[in-house]
Amino acid sequence: MKRASAPPLPPPNQTEGEGVVAKKNRRLRYGIVIAVGVAVVVFLFFTNPLESQLAPKCFWKLATGTDCPGCGFQRALHAFLHGNFADAARYNFFLILALPYLFAVILSDLVFRGERRERWQRFTHSRYTLWAYIIIYCVWWVVRNILGI
Ligand SMILES: [Zn+2]
Repeated sequence: MKRASAPPLPPPNQTEGEGVVAKKNRRLRYGIVIAVGVAVVVFLFFTNPLESQLAPKCFWKLATGTDCPGCGFQRALHAFLHGNFADAARYNFFLILALPYLFAVILSDLVFRGERRERWQRFTHSRYTLWAYIIIYCVWWVVRNILGI
C-alpha cells in the first residue's frame, strides 16, 4: 500500500511570502537611510558648522590632528545648500566626486526600474567602480594632509 505524502515544499528562497518580506525590508532600509539623509541636510541647512557647537567634531582630527577624508564635509554641505559651490569644493574637494556618485547610486537604487536600473547598477555597483572610489578616497586622505587642503 502506498502512503500518501504531502507535496514537496518549494525551497525557502522560492516561497511566495519571502519576496514580499524582502521587499518590505529593503523599503524600510531605504526609508531609514532617506530619513537620516534628510535630517542631516535639514540640520546642515540651518546650522553653520563654523559657528555652532551642535555640529559634531571629527574624532580622527581630535585624536591625530590630521584631516580625515571627510573633514570639511559639514561646512561643504552647508555651503553647497546655500549655493556657495566654490566654498563647498574648497572645504572638501572629494565632494566633487562623492556627491555625483551618491546621486548616481540613489538614482540606480531608488528611482530607476527595469533595464535602466540594471544598466546604471552595472556601473554604480561594479567592483571596479567601488575599488576606484576606495583608492581615490585613500589618495585624497594622504594628499589633503600633505598639501594642507
Ligand atoms: Zn575628519
